[in-house]
Amino acid sequence: MNAGRLVGIDLGGTAIKAGAISATGERLDRLEVQAEVSRGAEALLENLIECARQLGVTESLGLGVPGLVDREAGLVTQSPNLAPLAGFPLRDRLAKGLGLDPARVRIENDANVAALGEHWLGGAQGENLAFVITLGTGVGGGLIIDDKLFVGERGLAAEIGHTIVEPGGPLCGCGNHGCLETLASATATARRASELGLGGDLKQLSAEARQRPGAARDLLLEVGRDLGRGLAQVAVLLDLRCFLVGGGFGAACDVLKPGIEEGLLERCYGRTREDLRIRPASLGPDAGWIGAARLVRESD
Ligand SMILES: [Zn+2]
Repeated sequence: MNAGRLVGIDLGGTAIKAGAISATGERLDRLEVQAEVSRGAEALLENLIECARQLGVTESLGLGVPGLVDREAGLVTQSPNLAPLAGFPLRDRLAKGLGLDPARVRIENDANVAALGEHWLGGAQGENLAFVITLGTGVGGGLIIDDKLFVGERGLAAEIGHTIVEPGGPLCGCGNHGCLETLASATATARRASELGLGGDLKQLSAEARQRPGAARDLLLEVGRDLGRGLAQVAVLLDLRCFLVGGGFGAACDVLKPGIEEGLLERCYGRTREDLRIRPASLGPDAGWIGAARLVRESD
């Protein structure tokens, strides 16, 4: 019996994380397999179809992807990590392969589906205005306004990774200098740590920062300030107070938070620390597929 069984897939550059969930948020099944992106679009499509079948898809499928999405055409237009998918008629091929109505298959940016997941069942539940920042290889953002995902006119809203925090700073993949992504992604933080001669990975860096004052704590304070300066642009524009920190590096939210608050308050007029609600995202690696599963219901 698969009625009310929503299937969501979070397609990453290396892994496919997917699951089935009931309309009331009861998690029914979960699986994770290799994406095998290098084998090309057709092989990737087969892997996605196989996952959806295993999860018992019968009525709707949502898919989160790390890249820019054309919702009307149902395809990925640009994605550095999923290059073979650019321009591939993904929604229609998925629908055909699974025997679903194309209107019941939705594709959305991965940071946006993570925000949707956190708003539905995670740390942003009950917040009608919230911003979920995703710290990974890059920096993504998803914006909830009036309890709904807000994507802007062409779906590019909340791309906070490319807001400029340090004019003249490091060169970003987008061609600008000093984007938030070049300063505070997991990748950028690892680079900053190695420039300071700090060894170990980000988990060790965060643990060190938690334990004692020193170079690791100072660095994460500075990375947090950069995040806060970027988030201040959202706060100023929308009078938004609830920020969730997610993605792999989001596990360091506790040690980043003092810096985030400083950066936000430095760039926001008329706020106090008490006005801010900065919290870790709570669904971890499940936020993406859970939000993706919600996509079709969201647009009904
Ligand atoms: Zn950029």
